[in-house]
Amino acid sequence: MAFELPQLPYAYNALEPHIDAQTMEIHHSKHHQAYVTNVNAAIAGSDTEKLSIEEICKNISNYPMAIRNNGGGHYNHSLFWSIMAPNAGGEPSGDLAAAINTAFGSFAEFKTLFAAAGTTRFGSGWAWLIVADGKLALCSTPNQDNPLMDIAEVKGTPILAMDVWEHAYYLKYQNKRPDYIAAFWSVVNWAEVSKRFNEAK
Ligand code: MN
Repeated sequence: MAFELPQLPYAYNALEPHIDAQTMEIHHSKHHQAYVTNVNAAIAGSDTEKLSIEEICKNISNYPMAIRNNGGGHYNHSLFWSIMAPNAGGEPSGDLAAAINTAFGSFAEFKTLFAAAGTTRFGSGWAWLIVADGKLALCSTPNQDNPLMDIAEVKGTPILAMDVWEHAYYLKYQNKRPDYIAAFWSVVNWAEVSKRFNEAK
């Protein structure tokens, strides 16, 4: 069965003013759609069509680059849309808040380290909060790689993702990636991140 572009759980303008409607529309309907179209073309007629996108990522070293780039793009963006929401941001609570304090010292220190993972990723890529061996960790990946992939430098289950490709912010923030990253905190859906944390740990 072919992969499908997931519907956004909110309107294109719902993350304004932090992420603008035009960026969201192009990002979802053009960029993510292209990853879906291209991964489907790359797996068409093969046994890979029976697998989930997570199963493909976990064995990505067995696949050609078109599947790594476009399958990764599909997984990454599907997660990205879900961990953002309108009227969101603030701070996590409960077990996730406690785990962040244990792993990074404080929520403020976590934000500093996560932002640094995004700003220091050269060129296109992603910053991640992951669960590995039951614990939280931070990392970043190039291009459309992700920490589920068996080729990833740091492996784990992603629970928070931040796209730092220029297409994620250039229309509104131009070259100012740190300004986009600062705004990202206002749209993080901590309820969804907590849910993913509880499932992954
Ligand atoms: Mn993107």
